[in-house]
Amino acid sequence: MSDSSTLFKPDWLEVPAHPADLNRTIWTDSFSRNDSGELEVDGVAVSALREQFGTPEYIFSETTFRARVAEFKNAFTSAFAEHGAEVSVYYAAKSFLTTAVARWALEEGLNLDTASGGELALALRAEVPGQQIALHGNNKSDAEIRRALENQVGRIVADSVYEVQQIARIASDMGVVAPLMLRVTPGVHASTHDYIATAHEDQKFGQSMVAGTAMLAGFTTEQINALGLSDEDSYATVAAAVALGEDSINLRGLHCHIGSQIFEAEGFSKAAEKVLGFMNELNHRFDVTLAEIDLGGGYGIGYIEGESPRPALDVATELADSVSKTCADLGMEIPHLSFEPGRSISGPSGITLYTVGTIKDVAIEDEAGASRVRRYVSVDGGMSDNARPVLYDADYTAVLANREPRGIQVLSRVVGKHCESGDIVVRFCYLPADLMAGDILAVPATGAYCYALSSNYNYLTKPPVVATAQDSVPRLMVRGETEEEMLSRDLGLV
Ligand SMILES: *Cc1c(COP(=O)(O)O)cnc(C)c1O
Repeated sequence: MSDSSTLFKPDWLEVPAHPADLNRTIWTDSFSRNDSGELEVDGVAVSALREQFGTPEYIFSETTFRARVAEFKNAFTSAFAEHGAEVSVYYAAKSFLTTAVARWALEEGLNLDTASGGELALALRAEVPGQQIALHGNNKSDAEIRRALENQVGRIVADSVYEVQQIARIASDMGVVAPLMLRVTPGVHASTHDYIATAHEDQKFGQSMVAGTAMLAGFTTEQINALGLSDEDSYATVAAAVALGEDSINLRGLHCHIGSQIFEAEGFSKAAEKVLGFMNELNHRFDVTLAEIDLGGGYGIGYIEGESPRPALDVATELADSVSKTCADLGMEIPHLSFEPGRSISGPSGITLYTVGTIKDVAIEDEAGASRVRRYVSVDGGMSDNARPVLYDADYTAVLANREPRGIQVLSRVVGKHCESGDIVVRFCYLPADLMAGDILAVPATGAYCYALSSNYNYLTKPPVVATAQDSVPRLMVRGETEEEMLSRDLGLV
């Protein structure tokens, strides 16, 4: 990630010696160049994809998606099986969700995480059994909770004492028992961008395990004492006591999610240690056996040169070893573990195709005050189909896709067509000097949080999502929005 807008060129970027080569940390095996140097996705040339579906266009490889699911599922399952423990894997649907993708995840043996009524509705439309769905969110509406319970979801993850009471009330009204996990904040700060680090205390998610935070739950000292607790207890202890006191709640365990785009196992291990310790404490304190821990998602992927996410099996093995050791130290059995990868599965499965339009060279000064030229390459999409650069300073790369990139490579910036100077798709990359209007650019690793975050800014219609698979013709997963459809919601005044 780069923060400096005045930076001419970051250190990680070098002039590519072989510009046609695809860096396999960023591009999966679904992507290759054919004999004429054109990019293919699962064997289909990008020019054919553009001809059929236009640009901008999201392309999502079913082959890669299924392979990534299998990789993560097998990694966690086998690593924890070594210690005699069982795991479940939930696909974090918010990263990229369509009915087809929900089916693929299900067929590959995953459960599904949803974070809103809309995501839940989509999962149900895909006929994912309620038992295999989890409902998340820090501000669930009564209607969302009711819908989850009506469909017998496998678990609801509560994010506050308020929500524990809300879920208990609704479940009681419906005459059902809600399966509940409590989301806690382990206080581990994952080394990533601030906005996507979610386990430190000063943010909206989770419930504090820190002693002395009980009063923050909004109860009087008398009410806290009535729960058998004191002011010295934590907010999360209050939440657990409230949940355990409700007949309409089945408290199953604890949940945490420490952030996103994390490469090392260490943050997960530390979080696991804290959450396991706290669960052990609750078990003794309330004489119960909470026996499930969900460690969330957040496994990183490669977006640009020089990034090196570790293989899922390495991370899983290290984490399983550390969880096993922590449990042995605490004298407890290893609980049922669950994991919620999103980006690491969907991210590398998708790319975006754009058509090049205006190309403009701009004179700038570099850090040393020398004059330089930056090439601005405009494409036919931008922040409406990929909000991550403007939202989190996320970096991407791009390649010339419809022909072989050869000759001189020029430091370039790929920008969109929106009315914002922050509308950048790729801040830094090398593109061939002979790039011209009409060429196709492909931006890799856009499978996660791009379609999901897309908007109609500047009244651009939302692009189609096309699915590819080895030995199959491309199929439309989500059709592109038509202008008429987009404008039809404007009623004038009625
Ligand atoms: C977003 C989210 C995930 C997935 O995160 P990724 O970085 O996409 O793996 C998992 N669990 C929860 C609770 C989340 O909010």
